[in-house]
Amino acid sequence: MPIPEIEQKSLPEIKKFQEGKLKDTLTYLNNKSKYYQRLFRESNINIEDITTLEDLLQIPVTTKDDLQKHTDDFLCVDKKKIIDYVTTSGTMGEPVTFAMTNADLDRLAYNEYISFLCADTTDDDIYQLLVTLDKRFMAGMAYFLGLRKLGAGIIRTGPGLQKLQFESINKFNPTGFITIPSFIPKLINYAKENGIDYSNSSIKKAVCIGEPIRNTDFTLNTLGKKIVDNWDIKLYSTYASTEMGTAFTECSAGKGGHHHPEMIIVEFLDKDNNPVKEGEPGEVTITTLGVEAMPLLRFKTGDICHHHIEPCTCGRNTMRLGPVIGRKQQMIKLKGTTLYPPSIYDVLNEIDCVENYIIEVSTNDMGTDDLLIYAGCKSVTEDTEKSIKDNFRAKLRVAPKIKFLKPDEITTNQMQENSRKPVIFIDKR
Ligand SMILES: [Zn+2]
Repeated sequence: MPIPEIEQKSLPEIKKFQEGKLKDTLTYLNNKSKYYQRLFRESNINIEDITTLEDLLQIPVTTKDDLQKHTDDFLCVDKKKIIDYVTTSGTMGEPVTFAMTNADLDRLAYNEYISFLCADTTDDDIYQLLVTLDKRFMAGMAYFLGLRKLGAGIIRTGPGLQKLQFESINKFNPTGFITIPSFIPKLINYAKENGIDYSNSSIKKAVCIGEPIRNTDFTLNTLGKKIVDNWDIKLYSTYASTEMGTAFTECSAGKGGHHHPEMIIVEFLDKDNNPVKEGEPGEVTITTLGVEAMPLLRFKTGDICHHHIEPCTCGRNTMRLGPVIGRKQQMIKLKGTTLYPPSIYDVLNEIDCVENYIIEVSTNDMGTDDLLIYAGCKSVTEDTEKSIKDNFRAKLRVAPKIKFLKPDEITTNQMQENSRKPVIFIDKR
């Protein structure tokens, strides 16, 4: 199946193409979006003046807060046209409702279709979908729609349920998983404990969602290594969010998630909303293209990433997004060192005696950040705490406070009402 033509064009051609799409988007917002009509009016923006991607800088950004406070004003269609109601996962603050029309569902299907193509998927593939399809969740449905469009097979096992996962593998011989990567080590443990020959199973690859599997230099991080060292499968990372309605999925080169220029405009901004250079971390800021119900203009996702613009060996010339280093609001300043939770997870994932964990950040008497790790360990010796702290000092230059609990207690504490994922980061600031 062919790579979309636009993805093989030069970067200047892609830019021109996106500027054409931007014009359509601005016209649409100016006609249909109460929120952006008001923003253009109050900021004295004449959309006719915005013709290049650089001109976007004249328009104020849209924040999660704006979206939360004025959700209804973002809706560009009559309620009657809405088919699917989804909500954001609410990792940061209250969940936001997103409405999707029939055309938006088609767009979502196309987005995952080209994303799975990018991840070497063909109609010979059968994916086991270890992702929630209901609970007002967009992603699971998006994968389903994209794979269906591609003609690949789908087995909707959902998350968890190790026994069912292996039963399904035996019964249907799927070629790949779509899953959060941290579930794969759990599957491996289950297989080992139950004498299942998982390494000779039909599974050859996994599309990994929600958590990074790579370092910023694209080598596998601790979690990624832990998986491939125990199970020889190919990993593809994918990054997406409800607000974007668009995925950045890796190709076989594994050098970051490819940008699909038909779907979205991406900027990378510093804290003053100025663009960062290639090689510098910036906040992913997006303008959706072709969205009917709730299009967004210069929406700041909160995710900090690097971007890469040199052409890829797969034949695509589109920009690639490195792993999410962290969320802007989750930035931790510990004794002068800037940290994001994923780098802490990475250290903890490498320590064998720590089975699971919860990270808690709070503000101390001095008004600075305090970091406490609840570590789930079966047995704790005198040296355990020191060795964990040494690991932190070696990799992140600072060591947090550590409190030991039984792994079962951690699991219980990770379950929180109204959360679709286990809670491993608690921010008390
Ligand atoms: Zn590529």
